[in-house]
Amino acid sequence: MRITVVGGGMAGSEAAWQLAEAGFDVTLVEMKPCAMSPAHQTPLLGELVCSNSLRSDDPDAPAGLLKQELRACGSMVIACADQHRVPAGQALAVERFGFARAITERLALHPRIRIERRRLDELPDGPVIVCTGPLTEGALGEVIRAELGGDRMYFYDAIAPIVATESIDWDFAFKQSRWDKDSKPQPGDEGGSGDVGVGDYVNCPLTKIQYEEFVAAVNAGRKVLPHEFEEPRYFESCMPIEVMAERGPETLRFGPMRPIGLRDPRTGHRPWAVVQLRPENKYLTAYNLVGFQTRLAYPEQQRIFQMIPGLQKAEFLRYGSIHRNTYIDAPSRLGTSFELRSRPNVRFAGLLTGVEGYIESCAMGLVVAWLLVAELRGTTQAPPPPETMLGGLYLHVTAPREPKYKYGPTNVNYGLLPPLPGSRKDNRKQRMAVRAREQLATWLAARG
Ligand SMILES: Cc1cc2nc3c(=O)[nH]c(=O)nc-3n(C[C@H](O)[C@H](O)[C@H](O)COP(=O)(O)OP(=O)(O)OC[C@H]3O[C@@H](n4cnc5c(N)ncnc54)[C@H](O)[C@@H]3O)c2cc1C
Repeated sequence: MRITVVGGGMAGSEAAWQLAEAGFDVTLVEMKPCAMSPAHQTPLLGELVCSNSLRSDDPDAPAGLLKQELRACGSMVIACADQHRVPAGQALAVERFGFARAITERLALHPRIRIERRRLDELPDGPVIVCTGPLTEGALGEVIRAELGGDRMYFYDAIAPIVATESIDWDFAFKQSRWDKDSKPQPGDEGGSGDVGVGDYVNCPLTKIQYEEFVAAVNAGRKVLPHEFEEPRYFESCMPIEVMAERGPETLRFGPMRPIGLRDPRTGHRPWAVVQLRPENKYLTAYNLVGFQTRLAYPEQQRIFQMIPGLQKAEFLRYGSIHRNTYIDAPSRLGTSFELRSRPNVRFAGLLTGVEGYIESCAMGLVVAWLLVAELRGTTQAPPPPETMLGGLYLHVTAPREPKYKYGPTNVNYGLLPPLPGSRKDNRKQRMAVRAREQLATWLAARG
């Protein structure tokens, strides 16, 4: 049985290695150097297109925990990163050429891996894992789009920040859905303090002065410039807040910050402006800032969004961003092994599935390969436990969503994991990390 892996980036390199190590023959098709994306510059596999950091290596930080899990699973990509690390404090940063050369050599020398340097323009027969990444386009992009049914492939992401529920200040924020005059407390409505109104949304009210200061800060804030190959095409529905703020002082107040249909229970009046937050997960441990997609630099987001009453001490689980990014609406189009529902021999991994970042893409390459190995052997492979970062990412990609939910890429963060039982708040992340390690060990032991 020969399996095709398309794309030798973070996900494809890991997937090809895992399949080969499990005893399967693999053809890894990589278009470099015959064709180069606008971001890739070398013929090497495992090329990091931008930063040389794989983020925190603190085992209790989300990215550090994910790397620890990947090490425990025998990730080849992380092993190469460890081998080529450069001093970077708590982060795992790598010497990028040494790192990519190590990945290229390991794959090239593996007796079960054949590397073909050509651009694939159609989906081959037989089992295939497509890992062509955020810049997938051209003929293959069109084929994938057609398989998905036309409108389930996105070419830009417009991501709003996510904050941890426990960091919201309920002296200011209140729960209420727009026009929701007589809503009643609902089961599971325990995300806030309970006496600040009810409803699905959390609202952070601003006075006129606070609103004007906020708009001024957004206008003056430092923004991330688009890459050369990114033409900023914004749809009205996902316009960055800074573009709206530039259009005029009232634009945000008539857009995502409109207060209409809301009443602050403390004043009994409609606020001048409001930032609305919508639940990000079923656990209600994280909320996203509705309509707050932005190109503000991350430290600026922290500084400026903490001006919003209720978010003064917000912990940002994810920052907002807008960039060129091809990904598919995985929850609606892929099955639980990341296979195309319409063509189950075709699987996806990496950024295309709606995860964001080098290590997240690598992680999904590993998971998809393991699931495929089990299927081809006629055995079963339980997905990674939801309490682990691997499991959190897996569920992000595969869990069914409500039709109105706009699916978007995510980095690892603690908002992806189920909350701990009980109300104890101290050392929450450390305790969640301990739980993740225990669950991962049990999962790996069951795998044998
Ligand atoms: C400009 C830019 C900057 C980024 N910066 C960062 C960052 O600093 N940190 C971070 O964590 N993430 C960053 N990302 C996201 C990053 O791309 C992903 O996190 C990660 O590289 C995705 O892994 P992947 O395996 O899905 O795709 P990639 O690593 O991009 O690999 C895809 C591979 O598929 C090959 N390919 C594409 N089409 C075909 C085809 N038709 N036939 C054959 N081969 C093909 C490509 O040549 C490439 O080698 C950035 C993305 C972009 C676009």
